[in-house]
Amino acid sequence: MEDRIIVLGAGVAGLAAALPLARAGRTVTVIDPLPPAGGSSFGNAGLLSPDTSVPVALPGMLRKVPGWLSDPMGPLVVRPGYFPRALPWLLRWIRAGRMDRALVLSQSMRALHGASFAHWRDLLGPDGFAEFIRRNGQVQVWDQAEETPAAALERSFRARQGIPTEVLGAPELREMFPGIAARISRGVLIPGNGHTVNPGRMVRRLAELFLAAGGEIRAERALKLIPREGARWMVMTNIANHETGTLVVAGGAWSGSLIAPLGLRLPLETERGYHLFLPDANITPDAPLLYKSRSFSLTPMEGGLRAAGTVEIAGLDAVPDERRAERLLAHVRTLFPAIEGGTPRLWMGHRPSTPDSLPVLGPAPGHPGLHLCLGHGHFGMTGGPPSGRLVADLILGATPRIDAAPYSARRFL
Ligand SMILES: Cc1cc2nc3c(=O)[nH]c(=O)nc-3n(C[C@H](O)[C@H](O)[C@H](O)COP(=O)(O)OP(=O)(O)OC[C@H]3O[C@@H](n4cnc5c(N)ncnc54)[C@H](O)[C@@H]3O)c2cc1C
Repeated sequence: MEDRIIVLGAGVAGLAAALPLARAGRTVTVIDPLPPAGGSSFGNAGLLSPDTSVPVALPGMLRKVPGWLSDPMGPLVVRPGYFPRALPWLLRWIRAGRMDRALVLSQSMRALHGASFAHWRDLLGPDGFAEFIRRNGQVQVWDQAEETPAAALERSFRARQGIPTEVLGAPELREMFPGIAARISRGVLIPGNGHTVNPGRMVRRLAELFLAAGGEIRAERALKLIPREGARWMVMTNIANHETGTLVVAGGAWSGSLIAPLGLRLPLETERGYHLFLPDANITPDAPLLYKSRSFSLTPMEGGLRAAGTVEIAGLDAVPDERRAERLLAHVRTLFPAIEGGTPRLWMGHRPSTPDSLPVLGPAPGHPGLHLCLGHGHFGMTGGPPSGRLVADLILGATPRIDAAPYSARRFL
């Protein structure tokens, strides 16, 4: 009997690996206690950003951190009780922001993300792609009329990779975004980026396509991964035992507790993020806006407008601080003073983040048969499909479309 591949996690990362495997004729089971897209893949900002190519940690960031940390409602907060646990990750994050390292990371982001739209089209098919994805670009805006040092740095990263951008002045911004606040007088259009109108529904569509391709989804929670003789694995779940020779861990921010007992101690932290959804928004921008001075984005979506952002380092178990989501409304009002939106819906999710903004992909060193597809941080909707394809290609023995080395777990072990 043909061996069954097991994929843990039904978010964008797990399903983007499982679907090509099922389509290649392999027998595949996805295991997740939640319904598909029940994690971070549900409520993100939906930005698809092949042309962003800028890691989260950048030179100059360190100077800003004390200011951020002193404002409990600021864009980045570390809950005091969690600080000692987060410290090693934060130190690595700061190290990843050195200029020489950030430039290399930017190239690896570009190599992975560059063909994101093509990968989404492969997964969804042309009709699904047209249903869910808009390629109208993204517009970054600032409070300042002059280019900030961080914006100049981002521009230099993109220029090195030949990524086109366009500076927008006040008249263009007002024409593109009627009602935008008078204080906003400088923007940058990244025409090669885009967005999805519904990340949760789009990832659920991947699950439907996976089932249609013969895949199986089981509502179970993996509790322990147990190595067996002959490079085989036993997945002990809350209700069953499953044996396999090919096991893929794509459990998002929860992956650490599954692989750490195997000695795979990867720096994986949850960067908790929030969204505020305005179901009756009286403005409908054509393209998403990224308000860089306040570190949040505003994305036009099916049924309303989603403001999303903020980073809260507080671990997987702390209860949400809904004030962080509510605060987004004040930020939206600074951008669009006349906005009305109806009763907002609030959400919190866990970005599965490595300190260097790159995911961890491919075989787990020293553990034959175990594969990793995790750590997509701020960029999983963009990077999930190319990552899933890379992991599937490695499992199928096909030549990957890009060099897999920069994403290997080896860089942390
Ligand atoms: C506020 C916010 C805004 C964001 N905006 C963007 C954006 O604009 N663009 C972008 O590209 N990315 C964005 N992201 C990041 C993106 O959402 C994530 O990188 C991506 O969803 C991660 O996908 P995943 O499949 O790894 O994790 P998840 O979607 O979290 O899925 C992991 C799954 O694993 C399951 N699981 C956990 N433990 C187990 C277990 N023991 N056994 C089995 N299954 C298990 C979980 O139930 C879950 O369903 C944003 C994130 C947040 C929070």
